[in-house]
Amino acid sequence: MSTIQKVAVIGAGTMGAGIAGQVANAGYPVLLLDMPSEGESVNQIAERGLKRLQNPDSPGLMSDDAAALIETGNIRDDLARVSECDWVVEAVVERLDIKHTLYRNLAEHLKPTAMLSSNTSTIPIALLTEGMDADLQSRFAITHFFNPVRFMRLLELVRGEKTADSTMQTLHAYCEAELGKGVVPCLDTPGFLANRVGCFAIQCALYEAEKFGLTPPEADAIFGRPMGIPKTGVFGLYDLIGIDLMADVAKSLTTILPAGDAFHAVGQPLDVMVQMIANDQRGNKSGQGFYRGDDEVVDLANGEYVSLQKPIIVVAQRAEQEGVVTLLADDSKYGQFAWSVLSQVLCYSAELLPEVGDDPLAIDDAMKLGYNWIYGPFELIDQIGVDAFCQRLRDEGRSVPAYLQALNGQSTYAMPQRQTWDGNAAPSLRPIVRSEGLVRLNELRHTLKPEARNASASWYVYEGAALVEFHSKANALDGESMAIIADAVAAVPAQGLAGVVVHNDAQHFSCGVNLGAVRGFYQREDFEGLDAFLNHFQQTVHSLSIAPFPTVIAPVGMSIGGGFEVVLHGQQVIAHANSVTGLVESLVGLVPAGGGCKETLYRWVEMGCGDNIEQASWQAFRNLGFGKTCTSPILSKADAMLRADDRYEMNRDNLLVKAVEAVQQGEVKHHARPALAMPGAPVYNAMKVWLVQAAEKGQLFPHDVVVGTEIAEIVTGGDIDPGTLWTEQDLFDAERRAFWRLASSQATQARINSMLDLGQKIRN
Ligand code: NAD
Repeated sequence: MSTIQKVAVIGAGTMGAGIAGQVANAGYPVLLLDMPSEGESVNQIAERGLKRLQNPDSPGLMSDDAAALIETGNIRDDLARVSECDWVVEAVVERLDIKHTLYRNLAEHLKPTAMLSSNTSTIPIALLTEGMDADLQSRFAITHFFNPVRFMRLLELVRGEKTADSTMQTLHAYCEAELGKGVVPCLDTPGFLANRVGCFAIQCALYEAEKFGLTPPEADAIFGRPMGIPKTGVFGLYDLIGIDLMADVAKSLTTILPAGDAFHAVGQPLDVMVQMIANDQRGNKSGQGFYRGDDEVVDLANGEYVSLQKPIIVVAQRAEQEGVVTLLADDSKYGQFAWSVLSQVLCYSAELLPEVGDDPLAIDDAMKLGYNWIYGPFELIDQIGVDAFCQRLRDEGRSVPAYLQALNGQSTYAMPQRQTWDGNAAPSLRPIVRSEGLVRLNELRHTLKPEARNASASWYVYEGAALVEFHSKANALDGESMAIIADAVAAVPAQGLAGVVVHNDAQHFSCGVNLGAVRGFYQREDFEGLDAFLNHFQQTVHSLSIAPFPTVIAPVGMSIGGGFEVVLHGQQVIAHANSVTGLVESLVGLVPAGGGCKETLYRWVEMGCGDNIEQASWQAFRNLGFGKTCTSPILSKADAMLRADDRYEMNRDNLLVKAVEAVQQGEVKHHARPALAMPGAPVYNAMKVWLVQAAEKGQLFPHDVVVGTEIAEIVTGGDIDPGTLWTEQDLFDAERRAFWRLASSQATQARINSMLDLGQKIRN
């Protein structure tokens, strides 16, 4: 048990509220204090912080129970209450004088064993601890969280000269195990690791885009997915963060970085940005930034909006499949832009060794967990090839970073080890060791050999279990994904394995069935083929639920549509705490037809509604019709999407070990179900009336009524006598019939086309 049982957070702004929220998500009580206010409520700043956490569009809290663990207050009346807490996190404005005064006031009330940390982004720990007594300094550290705290995995943990080992160990363990963070210990260097590299990368991409005359969407199409960087790229990310805020961050970095740091050359905002900030074009928060709505973008030459042309850049599309080397080999302006940005960023990262530490893994972890890059800078250098990268630099007359020279052609990684370097002797290989119970599949994969592999999925033997991993784009599911599951299921008895685990550590477990493949079927008018595909999908996922051995699904991120249908058929689910679940097919004019309707109905019968089938079918009708999603496993359980005995883990790196343990324990759960006595025609007709009335009130569009009617037919049985028994197979068959009818309708095809071609949902 952690020695941290109660936490105080001082400062209830963006970060303080977020940190308090995550502590509460972990089940710990937390005191959230800010300045006192005049007027109605003296605690209103902290209360507003709590309210922001409950915003359904960006829920910082996993449930109302978590909200109940946060007590709000103010530093005038409640500061003495920090004596109840084992850890106090300071997250007030970035002003040294304010932080110093606060630390002095806090020191009077802290328990002698309590730890104190700052969330500062830019102030060195040596300055923060000036004037602090040595005992408190031993319990002081920087805990640098990222925004939004619940969702960003990185925590940079910085120790001061006098910070005790025990302080570092306790904070490391608590933030990792309880708050679920990927903890990266950092030295006290300016910007630590992630912002040091991340801000350089963003600024560099901005400058190079202007130099190469690229439009924002062109730059984002390159400095984005093809490099394994989130699709917001650079201009989209600027809009997301706020153009003014990001410009301030860059400015403050220029004040703390040493003279001669390459950041200084790119730290200033572009001229057009200065003009944009003055015109309130500050990004998403002001409704306009580099992008405005879905169809306008700023002309970087003059700050005026022009119509947005979505660029089709073939080499970028190829690079998404083939990797960044394809992009860098391209000699168009896109390839040149990519090389120009990436070579600078990779050199900048390599040049940080040994100044910021001796470990390339720490920089890679920081960029992966703090900026959501799929590959860290050193992994990218390895992909390009150390020799090839260095040679291209030399060919261009550029200097080669000392670390890369010292590697002497070897890769950074020789999994499961990496080359650390203290700047003196040759680099030395050190094993990658994560804390006990934490395993990252992307690291493990290097030493596992797939038993079977195709373009969409693979399966491996891991710790006596068959481990299935999806790896298509967005982990979209198709026949190949199902073939791998079927192969793994068949292999369990054949190879004497303990059971099946389905897991991956991509951003999202799976965003559903590959809609492009569905479109292919109806464009070819191959409805038999479509039916066979769906039948195969249904039978494959069903085989997981009725297997005579344990099957455990361990999802992260989004599991929606077909992805969630896989989850629904596991005998046990061990989900990450930020998992999003839902069957959203109705939004593209379809019904879930991989057992999603069937499972939703059964779950409501089994969990929510006792044996009241009428009530269960109404619940299923609503959830499926509205394409309901839940943003945490706790909420998923309340909506009968997960079972009461399904579990969740705060740290996603824990999932694989826990899932394998569950398989090894050997418990077989949730076999095939008895047939259901369907509610039949009376409820079916009532649902149809409800749909028509909702449409008359303007709440539904015409095709919503069509889709809703299909869902109603599945979850009631349609025009059948009440009490007619339907098996799981009958429900599967009804799902496929409905899918077939909808996929052949013009209105559904229009929805799918819009989604695939424009990335937009339409209502018709
Ligand atoms: P913010 O402006 O959103 O919130 C700061 C809060 O501190 C405000 O609510 C303010 O009322 C309160 N405050 C000011 N003086 C106080 C005092 N003496 N006592 C109590 N409360 C006081 O700022 P933020 O973005 O949440 O940043 C907080 C800290 O976290 C800063 O050190 C910042 O550098 C760091 N940080 C910010 C981010 C980010 O993305 N915003 C990320 C990592 C770290």
